[in-house]
Amino acid sequence: MTASIDMSLLARHADEIADAARELSALGWTPATSSNFSMRMDNSHAAITISGKDKGRLSRSDIMVVDFQGNAVGSAHRPSAETGLHTQIYRRFPEAGVVLHTHSRNQSVASRLFARDGSVVLEGWELQKAITGYTTHESRLEVPVFPNTQLMPELTARIDAWLDAGKPLHAYLIDGHGIYTWGRDMPETRRHLEALEFLLACELDLKRLSS
Ligand SMILES: [Zn+2]
Repeated sequence: MTASIDMSLLARHADEIADAARELSALGWTPATSSNFSMRMDNSHAAITISGKDKGRLSRSDIMVVDFQGNAVGSAHRPSAETGLHTQIYRRFPEAGVVLHTHSRNQSVASRLFARDGSVVLEGWELQKAITGYTTHESRLEVPVFPNTQLMPELTARIDAWLDAGKPLHAYLIDGHGIYTWGRDMPETRRHLEALEFLLACELDLKRLSS
């Protein structure tokens, strides 16, 4: 079955992804062609960056459509191995419109440091309010750290298990790898990503200064 793709929607999404990717790349959060970004097209398709491209220099042709099973739609490109993590978010969170995955230095170091605890617990930070649904610093924002693997079904099973246990999930780290976060649209997801990057940097500074 070949789904018909809304080409004007794809072009708008591709431009929005390329703009965000350029800015996140300028911050140094997408080193060495890493990271991937996607936007929901409809109930069963997403636009996503093809793998192996410099995220500071994406053009429309570097964004492809996949279905929620991770298959390419209307493209000869092979989707990135991490596509399954994006489509899992769209399947599990019907309100999610954007998924951003980056590999900043703070995200990478924090993922190693907190891997043994299984999560980073953020408490007492005003910027927790940047995450939709959080209205006070007196809240508890837990960001799990999942073990890294090249076997995506292993990783998606761990994320499903976390969600099936009824635990809130706004973002997760992968050990030695980077962060995934999402939101309704690009501005909300950018805000989540920037807040989490800032909060992880603060937690790392606290560790450094208190040791
Ligand atoms: Zn990655």
